[in-house]
Amino acid sequence: MEGATAPFYLPQGDECDVFAAAAENNLPLLLKGPTGCGKTRFVSHMAAKLGRPLYTVACHDDLSAADLIGRYLLKGGETVWVDGPLTRAVREGAICYLDEVVEARKDVTVVLHPLTDDRRILPIDRTGEELEAADGFMLVASYNPGYQNILKTLKPSTRQRFLSVAFDFPDAEREIDVVLRETGIDADRAKGLVRLANKLRALKGQDLEEGVSTRLIVYAATLVVQGMPIERAIEAAMIEPLTDDEDVKTGLLDLVTAVF
Ligand code: ADP
Repeated sequence: MEGATAPFYLPQGDECDVFAAAAENNLPLLLKGPTGCGKTRFVSHMAAKLGRPLYTVACHDDLSAADLIGRYLLKGGETVWVDGPLTRAVREGAICYLDEVVEARKDVTVVLHPLTDDRRILPIDRTGEELEAADGFMLVASYNPGYQNILKTLKPSTRQRFLSVAFDFPDAEREIDVVLRETGIDADRAKGLVRLANKLRALKGQDLEEGVSTRLIVYAATLVVQGMPIERAIEAAMIEPLTDDEDVKTGLLDLVTAVF
């Protein structure tokens, strides 16, 4: 089933084929790459193309297994069980996307293990159920290996349960295309913004922890299309989000003047 309204996604390589093959064969998929490089868009695009419902969970350090599985809630004086997004996906044969999975609490990985081997089961301790994943259920997770946090990486026993695809920012030609199609900005300024982004990315590790994401270039172009002067749009979307250090900011703004 091909969804007519799949959100626009420009492939960087053969990732759509890998996703489709993983979906076809009931294999879980891990997307590795920096924030804002298109992972979430890719998953929504593929879910629509394959005609499967999608449950997306943005993981954070307080997210526990119960948030994914479900819990008893008090409703009108009665306690009723309410499925979490993972349980719903397992029952319905949907795709469950755990964005930034390493951020979640450790008990989440325990839940993922029986779902990512050929048993494909989700034990729900609180209700005593053991759900077998419906046809079509697929687990997709993402993480950013760039964060140098030794405490927050996936354990080999978890990561070796997933097929993995590495993502990075698209090459300049593709990134210009994305910015054009996402915002409708003119080609000259799209090229300029991408050129600037690549200069800023080259500073990663020296003055900057993270480079400019494709998302931020799209934001800058959106502001420009709305009528904001380009220097101001760049400052708000591509400089301020990167650093709080005034000296670094001044240096980056000089770079802007050199490119535009
Ligand atoms: P991530 O999940 O990797 O943090 P997103 O998928 O949210 O990043 O991407 C951020 C934005 O960048 C998207 O909303 C979209 O505008 C744009 N984008 C990045 N890469 C692509 C791509 N390959 N095709 C289409 N849009 C893209």
